[in-house]
Amino acid sequence: MDVFLKPKQNQIHIVQLVIGKIIKNNKIYMDKLVKYLKFILLLIWQLPQSIVGWAMMLFFVIFGKVKLLHYINNTFIFESSLMRGSISLGTVIICCSTHADKPATIQHELGHVKQSKYLGWLYLFVIGIPSIVWASIYRRLGYRNYYHFYTEKWANKLGYVKVINKTTNYYSYYYLGIEKNILIS
Ligand SMILES: [Zn+2]
Repeated sequence: MDVFLKPKQNQIHIVQLVIGKIIKNNKIYMDKLVKYLKFILLLIWQLPQSIVGWAMMLFFVIFGKVKLLHYINNTFIFESSLMRGSISLGTVIICCSTHADKPATIQHELGHVKQSKYLGWLYLFVIGIPSIVWASIYRRLGYRNYYHFYTEKWANKLGYVKVINKTTNYYSYYYLGIEKNILIS
């Protein structure tokens, strides 16, 4: 009987191998599909700010130098030679060359990314526009601390950047799981 069973067992074994391979291969495709789907859904959820962000990127790519620093949590982090300061617009963060070397600033921008994911289409009105207005007038209003405003304070909290000393602008932050201290001027 053994002799007759063997080819059948082999067939079963081959079938199992093939099915296993199909499941394994499909899992890779499924993972990729889920990844792309997640990015597209996040893009739609954050569409107004993403359009502004990618339009800025297009301009920077055509007229200046652009470098991809990181791709993290469905967000592209770029450094641009034409950028002044840093901005977080949905699926894209654009940093100036000075900020690109400051992990705490990138963490702060990742805090804005979380705000964008929470607020969706409301982000530009609740965070983006007030933040830009605040950046241009806070000194004139007599404030020394840029991070005093709710948009910035909240971004620091979400990006794990925390104030140690409010008068000297000393910040601590978590970057790649390590707590560090930094002076933000
Ligand atoms: Zn900010």
